[in-house]
Amino acid sequence: MRLTSPYTCMAVLAIASTPGLRVEAAVATEAAKPSYSSVPRLQFNQQAAELNEPLFWIRDVDGDGAIDPGELAVTWGPGRANLERYVADGHFTRAFADAFARIATPISFGRLAEPERSRRQSVRTELAQGRPTLVLTTLTSPRDEKLVGHLEKVARIVERLYAKQSGVFGLDAGIPADDTASRALFFRNQGPFCEAPKTENDPACSALAPRPKRVSGMYPDAIQSDPGFCAALEKRADADALFNQFSVVRHKPGGRAKGDPAGDDLVAVPYHVAFADDVRAASAELRAAAGVLAGDPAEAAFKAYLEAAAQAFLDDDWFRADVAWKAMTATNSRWYLRVGPDEVYAEPCSRKANFHMTFARINQESLEWQRRLEPVKDDMEAAIASLAGPPYEPRAVGFALPNFIDIVLNAGDSRSALGATIGQSLPNWGPVAESGGRTVAMTNLYTDPDSEAVLMDQARALLCRATADRVDPAARFMTLSTVLHEAAHNLGPAHEYRVDGRTDGQVFGGALASMLEELKSQTAALYFADWLVGRGLLSRQDADAAHIRDVLWSFGHIAQGMLDARGRPKAYSQLAAIQMGYLNQRGVLQWKATEKAANGTDTGCFDVDLAKWPAAVEDLSRLAFGIKSRGDRTLAEKTRDEWVTDGSAWAGMRGVIQERWLRAPKASFVYSIQP
Ligand SMILES: [Zn+2]
Repeated sequence: MRLTSPYTCMAVLAIASTPGLRVEAAVATEAAKPSYSSVPRLQFNQQAAELNEPLFWIRDVDGDGAIDPGELAVTWGPGRANLERYVADGHFTRAFADAFARIATPISFGRLAEPERSRRQSVRTELAQGRPTLVLTTLTSPRDEKLVGHLEKVARIVERLYAKQSGVFGLDAGIPADDTASRALFFRNQGPFCEAPKTENDPACSALAPRPKRVSGMYPDAIQSDPGFCAALEKRADADALFNQFSVVRHKPGGRAKGDPAGDDLVAVPYHVAFADDVRAASAELRAAAGVLAGDPAEAAFKAYLEAAAQAFLDDDWFRADVAWKAMTATNSRWYLRVGPDEVYAEPCSRKANFHMTFARINQESLEWQRRLEPVKDDMEAAIASLAGPPYEPRAVGFALPNFIDIVLNAGDSRSALGATIGQSLPNWGPVAESGGRTVAMTNLYTDPDSEAVLMDQARALLCRATADRVDPAARFMTLSTVLHEAAHNLGPAHEYRVDGRTDGQVFGGALASMLEELKSQTAALYFADWLVGRGLLSRQDADAAHIRDVLWSFGHIAQGMLDARGRPKAYSQLAAIQMGYLNQRGVLQWKATEKAANGTDTGCFDVDLAKWPAAVEDLSRLAFGIKSRGDRTLAEKTRDEWVTDGSAWAGMRGVIQERWLRAPKASFVYSIQP
């Protein structure tokens, strides 16, 4: 602990001259003020993350270069820290002073021997690729505080469930107490494994030494030593039962258990049985949250969902909860909540639903978009159908426009280590899914000043001056693109569409089908911006700004690489590579090899020729929608391979995009809820 002598001295003075003031408060304020300027804001936030301190310097409001009590947020994490621990009566407490002293002390691995030293260095490199980025919610009423208090507890239980599903529950107990960075990594990544681009394949990078094997909690450990166990399970006669999405697979008690996925006696155990204690706890908190809303007709729909979800935790009848969930809308509740098992991406066989919680407030902007797009949705469908060509025929579309939501808290499978989901359609199965679920677009992410500043730096490193000058980092352009993308999932040939009786998954295979559906939606987003201008629903200027933002969106995804750590295709990265490769070939996205980028330092930069945009995007739409309409797997694979594989001139440009984009760390969202 480094406390300077003036600090101690001033503290004594402060206490002496302020009778009755709480000691903790007094110690920290007057006294420590000078030293609180020793760590710049971004560094403070980074260091706090590495030290696993739940602190975030929101912004330097008064510009004095020192953190002030009003500029501090306490972030949601494994501990139970709250703001009162660090700020009391408008002053910093001793707990803050202590934390600040730790944050101001450089981390040193001085006495560590190899290979522990390398491991800790890799962990730091992993963490440093995420810039702590704050999602701050300020609550305005005591009732909201109560409600959110219960839901915050649900979030903790959901994290525990997800850890059990991921097979990492309790592993953090093996991290030495002094190794705060590994603890931080374990919490951020929800497990010991590294995920950031520079470290995901680094064998030294792990929160635990030695690095554990990845073993999912969804299947018996023993069958997972067979790398083809998913395929072996698929071939079993009882595959459908075993792959029930709301269950884990276990050995039958007393049955054959040789570690053979094809021959062992296996059984599906429903979540509410496998995780009985946790689901009961979650259910009770949800009921308590519902109780807070009792008697308020304005939140009846939300209350009904809280009760339905509470029941589903107990019986896994999630389809029933979906009905109450769908009945909540942007107009009948101020809140958005989705809690339960939903997405399957995070488990090795991509069949079982992972627990998550997404809790947010409704952003009323969605209603404005609904108003604008609702009258033209049939025309949008007709436009897509015409570009897709036969055999697809336009259908009556009942798209529910995304609800815009401002995230309060993501937990479990929804809480990403880096980046965040900015749009989602649920549920994935059941009657509500079939009749059209509910789609949300997260609108308050990446809208903080830190995120805007980073985006502008990335843009200036890749774009030539003429194009860089056209970048507008305002959130509404990204929002527009997200709306159009999400709307397009409801249009044209979608997952339910069949060619000769076969779904897109059957025609293309799961991974390629997902990528093509995302390519369709994002290409539609590029296309519809101009289309809306033609209808007088969007200004030309706004459409152009949206185009440039879409190019940057693609750069961001291209930079993440085409495959994930397990070698599976990344849908967004691949569609972005296809789109930008195509636009590059068509002269829309031009590479100027000898020109300086707008930052004045990098040589070689991209210009966007907006005059060529509409025709090229129309042709790209024909290609992308047509592939889905005809179920043309050959053309799908050819298109993907042309722009996604290595070795081409475009792959070289993708390398440039990746190198320059990744100089800036990705956002790693941290959440803070303040009264
Ligand atoms: Zn999508």
